Amino acid sequence: MADNKTIEMQDVLRKQRSAHTQMRPEPMDLRKDRIKRAMRLLTEHSKDLCKVMSADFGNRSPHQSMITDIAGTVNFGKYCLKKMDGWSKPSKRSVQFPLGLLGAKAEVRYEPKGVVGILSPWNFPVNLTFGPLMQIFAAGNRAMIKPSEFTEKTSLLMRELVEEYFTPDECAVFTGGPEVAAAFSELPFDHLVFTGSTATGRKVMEAASKNLVPVTLELGGKSPVFMGESADFAKAGERVALGKMMNAGQICLAPDYLYVPESKQDEAIHGVWQGTANMYPTMLENEDYASLVSDRHFDRLQDMVADARDKGAEVIEVNPGNEDFGSSNARKMPLTILKGVTDDMKAMQEEIFGPVLPVKTYSRIEEAIDYVNENDRPLGLYYFGEDSDERQQVLTKTISGGVTVNDVIFHVSMEDLPFGGVGPSGMGSYHGVEGFREFSHARSVYTQPKIDVAKLGGFKPPYGAATEKAVKTMMK
Ligand code: NAD
Repeated sequence: MADNKTIEMQDVLRKQRSAHTQMRPEPMDLRKDRIKRAMRLLTEHSKDLCKVMSADFGNRSPHQSMITDIAGTVNFGKYCLKKMDGWSKPSKRSVQFPLGLLGAKAEVRYEPKGVVGILSPWNFPVNLTFGPLMQIFAAGNRAMIKPSEFTEKTSLLMRELVEEYFTPDECAVFTGGPEVAAAFSELPFDHLVFTGSTATGRKVMEAASKNLVPVTLELGGKSPVFMGESADFAKAGERVALGKMMNAGQICLAPDYLYVPESKQDEAIHGVWQGTANMYPTMLENEDYASLVSDRHFDRLQDMVADARDKGAEVIEVNPGNEDFGSSNARKMPLTILKGVTDDMKAMQEEIFGPVLPVKTYSRIEEAIDYVNENDRPLGLYYFGEDSDERQQVLTKTISGGVTVNDVIFHVSMEDLPFGGVGPSGMGSYHGVEGFREFSHARSVYTQPKIDVAKLGGFKPPYGAATEKAVKTMMK
């Protein structure tokens, strides 16, 4: 028996699909107007959104939230507005000789799919909801959203604001826990975008498969950092520290572990230590440094460090202000570097998603390449170094969702590059023209000339000489 929430969601889906069907073809201006309203919603309520995000996390810098969740998303809306006319142009395709001469035509039209569901996580709750929404609108769809229950205040505010800026048949938000999320993922959408963990992604894909709903899965994984012999270890350390410490490591693309030359291990660790200390001389009272989102996540990370210590890793806490994290209930955790890690440690088995950084060493870069290839394909992969042959070797011998060279995470902020994983780190992508196409149906349209092409080509019974000639030509 479906509960009230499920019935409500089914009802909204029916209404959205019916409005979508009746209003087709919708003018581009209406798509643009929806994107502009989403941008206005974010701009006009940026402060409130940053405030509730901070409250949900315990602490999260409003400056960071402005960059990662508000300005970044508004800017992405601007990018979509600029590009969408070009994206939505039909693409002319060739037809086999001599059909073109006879007047045949072929083209692909990028048409809306209908109603797209968005299941979003807590780590960048606004960005990972409104980011996909911009391209879902650009492609002419309507949207239903289920944001995360971990950032409940943000989810409630997003619901309130969406109700203010959109009609329920354009966009609607549903809040609730994992049961609501599970019911949401079973709805017969025209497409479903899920951003979250690989484990939940598996459940979402299974639920979607019952209705053959196509999915985009933006998942996580262990994104490795390769440091080559030729890396500038001070600079690399600083960049890794920035990427690892932003949002306290709660980023799908956060550098998960370092792979460094044996002889450079201490230099590499010192670089990260120094980079962290420069940005966060203290952490407990420092508004720039985020808290971990929940007690569950905090305990999981503490347990991960204890497990590594018990199994023989050396634990280095980057605590430049000598603060007493143990007696604080701010759910803040200093960067914790793990040296001498082995594969039986939890830190090398699960995605870390917090300020813990295992360091592995290699004597030849091939060992690091083999290690990455033996494990799940990661979402991101990073290479630091000036040796172009080595860089090429790392890039051509591994597979990952995306790559940043000489830094971490940055490829996701390039609006024109598709962002997505591969295999266990995800499927499909958004951003760039690929995102527009992900949420569009590429509809093939072929126009037949007046002349009887089937007869001319020998495809029409009674088969005979023309048929034989056609077969021969095709196989020549
Ligand atoms: P999660 O998988 O726990 O939850 C994500 C969403 O799924 C939530 O909205 C939740 O309500 C919903 N959900 C929970 N149970 C469900 C079920 N049975 N069926 C359907 N939906 C269900 O992820 P999280 O903890 O919120 O986020 C952290 C994970 O997300 C990390 O693994 C991280 O790498 C990944 N992530 C990926 C990206 C990306 O773009 N690739 C971005 C951010 C986070």
